[in-house]
Order: sequence, then C-alpha cells, then structure tokens
Amino acid sequence: MKRMSNKKPQLPGMAKKRSVVVPKQRRNVGPEDEVDGYSRVDVYDQKTISRIGAHYGDIIKSIGEDPKREGLEKTPERVAKALQYLTHGYDLDPAAILKGALFQEQYSQMVIVKDIEVYSLCEHHMLPFFGKAHVAYIPDGRIVGLSKIPRVVDAFARRLQVQERLTNEIRDCIHSTLKPLGVAVVMECDHLCMRMRGVQKQNSVTTTSAFTGIFLSDHRSREEFIKLISSKLH
Ligand SMILES: [Zn+2]
Repeated sequence: MKRMSNKKPQLPGMAKKRSVVVPKQRRNVGPEDEVDGYSRVDVYDQKTISRIGAHYGDIIKSIGEDPKREGLEKTPERVAKALQYLTHGYDLDPAAILKGALFQEQYSQMVIVKDIEVYSLCEHHMLPFFGKAHVAYIPDGRIVGLSKIPRVVDAFARRLQVQERLTNEIRDCIHSTLKPLGVAVVMECDHLCMRMRGVQKQNSVTTTSAFTGIFLSDHRSREEFIKLISSKLH
C-alpha cells in the first residue's frame, strides 16, 4: 500500500474558500464553503455550544490551566464550535445524499473515486484520524453523481468512529442505495492516538477494506481495483 504524503491536511473545498460577509441576523453562521457547486453553511446550535463550552471550561481548569487567562478566555466556545463541526455527520443522511442523484445509465465498467480526503475522530480517544478513501462500484443500470461519493464518505467520517466501521458503513450505504453489482472501499488512515500517545508509532498507516458482490466473488475485479488505486495517473 502506498505511503501517504506529508502534505498539510486540507479540508475539502479549502482552496476555493472566500470571505463572506455575514449579515447581523446570521451571527451564528460560520464561513461558507463551496464544494463542487454544493455550498455548506455552518450553523451552530448556541444551546449546545454553551453546554459543551462549560464542560471544556472545567476541563481546562482540571488540567491545571487558568481558564481566565487571555489566550484561553474564548477557548471553551471555540472548542465547542470545532467539535460541533467535526461531528456534523450526525445531522446528515448519507443514503438521502445518494438517492438525490441517481441516474439510469447502461455503463457497466468499474467507476472509481480515489484519494478522497478523510477526516474523522476515533471514538476511543476523540483524537483525529485522517487519510484517504478509495471507493469503487460496478453499476447495474444506475450510476450516481460522482461528487456524492465524497459527501457520503464525509457524512460517515464526521462522527465518532473506528476506521473499520467507517469503511463498512460507506460500503453498505452505497450497496443498499445504488444496488450495484459490487462495491469496494479501501481506506488508509493515520491515527493521532497512535502517534501522540500509546505506542507512539510514527509513520504507521492503517489500511482497511470492505467489498460486496463481484468484488468478493471475482478476484480479477478486486485486483483491477487495487491496481487502479495504487497507480499514479495524475
Ligand atoms: Zn484512538
């Protein structure tokens, strides 16, 4: 499996980010991002932010810091907002994302979306894990708008997760919604809970995979998929 590059993590759509003037009545609305014509606005739930923020205030005190010091004064609220963003997948319905863009098409070759950026939080330590997802399917009379696959990955990733379940959830959602001849998902992620604590294993990458249909029964399809995601065509 190929190694991940040391490039700075980039949020999807970050390159296209532009500043937005937020009207007064929408003060709780964060910066707007546009990804492939799909625009997202962060809407924070103030009640939840205050509740989570109060807990973070206690946590800051508990680790021996002074929550009143200038640099930390607004930290509880900022962390609460960040956490709400990092777990916004709970508000998304991944199957509905796919169902909104299904098309009848007699294309029957493998469709691959590779190098999808993934950012998630491990459910054991609530520390980030991040890397790449590669997704393929073989259509059976239906295809899906390509930008929806990264959105499905994100909808499952932006929750408390383990990489194994995340891989299976992406596979199962595509399989049950699109009903293709087969689905393949491979994920390669770097876990900060392994790098920063515990075994402190630097440079280790965890690879998980999940298959259905033809990808399970036909080793040639599986090999073709692995070959295509391993090649550097771009
Ligand atoms: Zn962990």
